[in-house]
Amino acid sequence: MTRSTRKPYIAGNWKMNLDRARSLDLIKTVKGRLGDGGDREVAFFVPSIYLADVSAVAQGSPLGVGGQNCWFEANGAFTGELAARMLREVGADRVLVGHSERRHVFHEPDEWMGRKLRAALDSDLLPIYCIGETLDERKGNKTERVLKRQLESGFEKIRAEDAHRLTIAYEPVWAIGTGETATIEQVGQAHRSIRKWLVQRLGEDAANLMRILYGGSVKPDNAKELMAIDSVDGLLVGGASLQAETFLPIIEYDR
Ligand code: PEP
Repeated sequence: MTRSTRKPYIAGNWKMNLDRARSLDLIKTVKGRLGDGGDREVAFFVPSIYLADVSAVAQGSPLGVGGQNCWFEANGAFTGELAARMLREVGADRVLVGHSERRHVFHEPDEWMGRKLRAALDSDLLPIYCIGETLDERKGNKTERVLKRQLESGFEKIRAEDAHRLTIAYEPVWAIGTGETATIEQVGQAHRSIRKWLVQRLGEDAANLMRILYGGSVKPDNAKELMAIDSVDGLLVGGASLQAETFLPIIEYDR
């Protein structure tokens, strides 16, 4: 499988934004526009408290609905946390793992990532595993090393047969929510090094099933250019996914 046969994947991460009514309106609008959505995969990662309502509205459409985080145990004394199986139970079909805000605002360590990805897959969720370097790490020429470390921890319990259910998002921390997008060269280089690592780890056939998304200040006016990069299989969009006027043109980047 190559870039031309992997289905483009456009995902919106609402973070802790919108309210119930605006969430449902947005889902209805995007659902109405998507039709059968056959040639691309579109999903929203929504605040967990809205998951049941949002997935009920999305039902019957190809729109995916996911949680923004999960814990790796199935039950227990973990106040404030949500098990992957709970997300599944209220209608999520996917989940983000390792988003930069989880890593840097809530200090989630690398050691959790492998267990979270395993728990998500075992609960029948499709994870997007987010990785990316900080500005200091980029300036210190450590980008490749950081990506490799994050991949190694995330893939601790991943086997080649999991590959078709797993997506990677390369999101340089310095580009998230800052209005600063990585250059075409920076994105291409990072994506190539991620794919090379995946091939080494899982073998070529399994690695080629996996999509690698770019995230970091994606907007309607840069989506087409980013999707034109050979190694980019899709986009993870934060701020611009909160309104139909900005998210629809990103979904329809090639129209
Ligand atoms: C994100 O939330 O993953 C993200 C990339 O945000 P933004 O598009 O706002 O930079």
